[in-house]
Amino acid sequence: MLNPPVKAVLSAQSDLVEEVACAYCGSQSKEKILEKNLLRIVRCPDCGLWYTDRRWNAQGIAAYYQEAYFNGGVDGAFKDYRSESAEKQVDFSHKFLALTALKKGGKLLDVGCATGVSLAAAAKAGYEPEGLELSAWAVAHNATPYPIHHCAFTDFNAPGRYDVITLWDVLEHVADPDAVFAKLHALLNPGGLAVVSYPDPGTWMARMMGAHWWVLVPDEHLYFYPAPLLCAWMQRHGFRFLRQNHEIRHLTLAKLMQKTFPAAERLLTPWGWGSRLIRLSIPYKHVAVFQKSDV
Ligand SMILES: [Zn+2]
Repeated sequence: MLNPPVKAVLSAQSDLVEEVACAYCGSQSKEKILEKNLLRIVRCPDCGLWYTDRRWNAQGIAAYYQEAYFNGGVDGAFKDYRSESAEKQVDFSHKFLALTALKKGGKLLDVGCATGVSLAAAAKAGYEPEGLELSAWAVAHNATPYPIHHCAFTDFNAPGRYDVITLWDVLEHVADPDAVFAKLHALLNPGGLAVVSYPDPGTWMARMMGAHWWVLVPDEHLYFYPAPLLCAWMQRHGFRFLRQNHEIRHLTLAKLMQKTFPAAERLLTPWGWGSRLIRLSIPYKHVAVFQKSDV
């Protein structure tokens, strides 16, 4: 655990910040969406991509995703990741069962699997799961019998090994989308599926909330893909679009409040409502499925 809190450490260090151009079209033109401390989120007027153009560099990112990220040391991250295991188990079970309609069984890699809750759910749905995770703390707390590779996704080398690769809530965090899409293509078998969930700034809710959209957290969210742009970007890397739905989440009322109205969360406690599990279609997020095609 970093002490003082990791955010305070990072905020004070401008040498940990880098500035980047649009990763999709290369444009240097920018329309500011919001600024927070040293960081900034912009929209590219040439292609429509939203991204954090002033962001933590690799060293800053490495400091960010430590134990504190999972255990309440970082505002807006996890209060206590492992206490959410039960609701995550339910949530992932539904997600992987939905996938079986497109591909039954096979070798599956879940990227950014944290402590591996998703892997148990994938196994129950009939897949042979493996995980991949950058955080040493999360890997050390692997709660499952399934392997979790401890490395950056773009450094992982196992070409043509997987039938399905899932990235739940990952794409908005990655520093180099091109490298991630190319790696997805390399790791999948011919016809293999890439499944990604991501927040879309083109949805009505994101548009309505503007700079107040809670997904706009420049410390950790670097890219916000409008759906047509993501499809075109994946196509560039040899994928064809199969389908997309709003993400269905199963989560407790307490978690929902943490994400939306943190101040109201404590109001639930006396009523015992916090642990109530609800099913929600998230109006600003998608789950998209792409298939590896011959380029
Ligand atoms: Zn652009």
